[in-house]
Amino acid sequence: MKVLKFGGSSLRDGTSMLRVGEIVAAEKEEKVVVVSAIQGITDSLLRFMSAVRKEEEVQVFVKELRERHLKILAEVASTMPVKQQAVAQLNARLVRLERTLYGITYLEELTPRTKDLVQSFGERMSVIVMSAMLQDMGVNAVPVEADELGIMTDGTFGSATVDMERTRVNAAPSIRDMFKRQEVPVVTGFFGKGPEGVITLLGRNGTDYSASVIANAIDADTLEIWKDVDGFMSADPKVVPGAVPIGYLSYEEAAELAYFGAKVLHPRTVEPARAKSITIRVKNVFKPHVEGSAIRPQGVENAQTVKSISFMSNMTMLKVYGAGLGSRSGVMLEISELLSNANVNIYSAATSQTGISLLIEEGELKRAEKALAGAKRGVIDRIELVKDIALLCLVGEGLGTREGVAAKVFTIVASLGVNIQLISAGASTVALHFTVNGKDLEKTTRTIHQVFFEA
Ligand code: ASP
Ligand code: MG
Repeated sequence: MKVLKFGGSSLRDGTSMLRVGEIVAAEKEEKVVVVSAIQGITDSLLRFMSAVRKEEEVQVFVKELRERHLKILAEVASTMPVKQQAVAQLNARLVRLERTLYGITYLEELTPRTKDLVQSFGERMSVIVMSAMLQDMGVNAVPVEADELGIMTDGTFGSATVDMERTRVNAAPSIRDMFKRQEVPVVTGFFGKGPEGVITLLGRNGTDYSASVIANAIDADTLEIWKDVDGFMSADPKVVPGAVPIGYLSYEEAAELAYFGAKVLHPRTVEPARAKSITIRVKNVFKPHVEGSAIRPQGVENAQTVKSISFMSNMTMLKVYGAGLGSRSGVMLEISELLSNANVNIYSAATSQTGISLLIEEGELKRAEKALAGAKRGVIDRIELVKDIALLCLVGEGLGTREGVAAKVFTIVASLGVNIQLISAGASTVALHFTVNGKDLEKTTRTIHQVFFEA
C-alpha cells in the first residue's frame, strides 16, 4: 500500500495536473492520493479574508474561484457524465463557501474558526477536479474530505496536531472498504476536525503531514511526496552550485532538515511515518523515474559525516538581560512560554550568568517584543537586538557519532575570518547549529560544502 501526495505547485493548470494523473494511473499498487489546493488558492482565500469585504466582492471572488476550477476541469476531463458530476460537486462546495463568506461580511467578524473553515475549501475543490481527471483516465477515483474520513486533531486553530489514535480508528476501516470496492481515495490534505467537530488546519503546507498521518493509519509501505524538485539536496543549489541530491536520510536527519530551512517537507511529516517505519520518498513529478530521496530507518548506510547544510537567514538574536537571569530557574521557562504563546519560534537559546540569548525569525520580532513586555516585573532589565543573523544547520548521523567533525567545521569557519555567535551541538545527535552574520552566510556555506562534498 502506498500514499501519494501532490502539492499545489504540481497542480497549477491542466498540463501539470495531467502529469500528476499519469503518475497516479501508472501506479498499480493499492493507493491513497492526498492533495493540496490548486496553486495559489489558499493564498487567495487568505487574501480575501484579510480585508472587510462588500457583498458584491464575495460574488466576484466566488465566481473567480469557480472559473479557475472549471477551466482546469475542462482541460483534464472530457467525458460528459464525469464532468457534470464534478461541476455539481464543485458548485455544492462553492455555495457553502459563499454563504460562509457572506457571514463574515455581514458580521464583520472573522474568528479563527471561520478562517480555518474557509481555507479548507481549497482542498475540498481540488480533490473533485483531481478525481474527475483520474476517472477520465480509467482510475476509479473518489474524492474524500478529511473531516468525513475522520482525521481528528487537538483542535488548535491554524496549526493543529493530529490525534493519531482516533484518526486510525476512523480512517483505516473506511479506506479498507474503499480498497475492497477497487476505489482510489483522493483525500483533502491540510485540515482535520477537532474534538468538537470543528475544522482545524494543520499549518501552511500541511498536506505533507496529512499524507503521513494517512500512511500511518493504513500501515502503508511507502509515502511518496511528489514535488517539482529532486528531493533533498546537500545544500540549496541557488547558493551552492555544486550541491548534489541526497539518496538516503534517516528520519532524524530529515526531521532536522525539514525544521531548519530546507523547505522540502512540512516539519511534522516525519513523525507519523517514523512511528510505523514507513519509507518516505521525495520524488520529482518532472522525472518520475528518478529515485529521489528516501527517508527510512537505515538512513546511514552511505554514511557521510555531513549530509546536508541548510540555513535560515533573516534571523534576530534577542539578548535578554536581567540580574542573575541566567541562573534563576523558572525564568527561562517564563520567557519561552511568553514567546510560544505569541507563536514565536525559538530556534536556539543560550544562557549566561547575566542573560539569555534567543534566536528568532526577524518577521516575528514585533510579536516577540510585545510578548516579552508582559514578563513579570524585575525579570528583564533590557533587551538588545542583533539583526541580520543567519543560522546554519549541518545534518548527518556522523555528526553525533564521529569525533572531530565539529572541530573541523569550526576550523574552516575560523579560517574564513567569520565570527560565530551561538553554537548548539548536542540538542540533537544528528545536527550541529551555529550562527554567523548574514553577510558571511554564503561564503561559509560554500566553503563548508566544498570541504565535505567537493574535495
Ligand atoms: N494548501 C495549503 C497551503 O497552501 C496546504 C498545502 O499546500 O499543503 O498551505
Ligand atoms: Mg500549498
